[in-house]
Amino acid sequence: MIKSRFPIFNHQSELVYLDSAATAQKLDIVLEAMQRYHETFNANVHRGLYPLAEEATAAYEAVRDQVAVTMKARSREEVIFTHGTTEGLNLVAQGFAPQFLKSGDEIVLTILEHHSNLVPWQMMAKKTGVILKFCPLTKKGILDENALEKLITRRTKIVSVTGLSNTLGFVVDLPRVIARAHAMGAKVCVDAAQYAAHFPIDFKGLDADFLVFSGHKIYGPTGVGVLLAKRDLLEKLEPWMGGGDMIREVHLDHATWNDLPWKFEAGTPPIAEVMGLGAAVSFFHEIGWDVIQKHDQELYDYAKEKLSTLSFVKLLGQGKAGKNCGALSFVVKDVHPHDVAALLGEKNICVRAGHHCTMPLIKALGVSSTTRMSFGIYNTKEDIDRAVSAIREAKNKLRG
Ligand code: PMP
Repeated sequence: MIKSRFPIFNHQSELVYLDSAATAQKLDIVLEAMQRYHETFNANVHRGLYPLAEEATAAYEAVRDQVAVTMKARSREEVIFTHGTTEGLNLVAQGFAPQFLKSGDEIVLTILEHHSNLVPWQMMAKKTGVILKFCPLTKKGILDENALEKLITRRTKIVSVTGLSNTLGFVVDLPRVIARAHAMGAKVCVDAAQYAAHFPIDFKGLDADFLVFSGHKIYGPTGVGVLLAKRDLLEKLEPWMGGGDMIREVHLDHATWNDLPWKFEAGTPPIAEVMGLGAAVSFFHEIGWDVIQKHDQELYDYAKEKLSTLSFVKLLGQGKAGKNCGALSFVVKDVHPHDVAALLGEKNICVRAGHHCTMPLIKALGVSSTTRMSFGIYNTKEDIDRAVSAIREAKNKLRG
């Protein structure tokens, strides 16, 4: 039973956790890997010459090799450890913009983007005078992928797009976006914060230029993430954070940079968290993507069907069959999403309410906020049944 691999459920037996898009619950092997490091070979990496430090460095670098192999990077130099998706996106925006963009160039984003794939580009646009273009929604409230293709032109220098919308669960056709962008001479950055929990990453096969994700959404720890990036781009990008480990030589008036991948890993990295990330990555291999994706789709379809039976519930952003997974947003007629989430919370059913860090999307959908259920590998149909019956109760109670 997969659920028993997540210790939180031993402590919270009645917990219905439907907020994995915010952060997923932690696997037993993740916690063990972090504990093992702290208890048995805790030392800083890339610094000490004594055996303990060498052991820590070897274990840290072994996770880089594991990520490179599992996610099909071309080499280990393409794998940069970060503190999360947000840091990865800031690294890309701040490194790419000054190097490759000039006033009047265009950056293409979509209306689906999480603030962390929007604000860093806004900051760069302000500094460099580049223009941000946004792919809108169709009248049905899903991403207009035909418009996205047209928006990418010879003026576009980079397209930064989510693989999977954290608010709507909408799956973006990444191969289509990447093919179009490359045909127009533009680079592509994929925000895989949600995507990485629901799709295997084949960095080489996908042919994205940059791809970022966080450990905590794939059943690993907070405070760690990965940037996968093509080596030739990383060679050209300036590091955005300076400090220990990212340098080769430091003089009083200047410094030179370390080799890849360490050029982008300033300061003591999240060592224990990298150990945990390695364990999380191995879990997907252990369970098998076919099992994970079958579970994802069955659960999503079930939730959609059950919610559709409630006449007072409106689902948002639903594409054709198979186009959504992982997260499902809805509004309950005449009841504020915060009230829905609070009443479910009283029953230990965790759903999220608000703008989900996608304010422009919420505005485009014509609502003030939504209630969102999001799913992990530990969720069951019973979880959905309990949530749906609690939503019915909430509606009855708050009908006024
Ligand atoms: N992008 C998307 C699509 C997300 O869902 C999130 C997290 N909600 C982020 C970026 C930011 O990730 P983090 O907070 O781990 O940096």
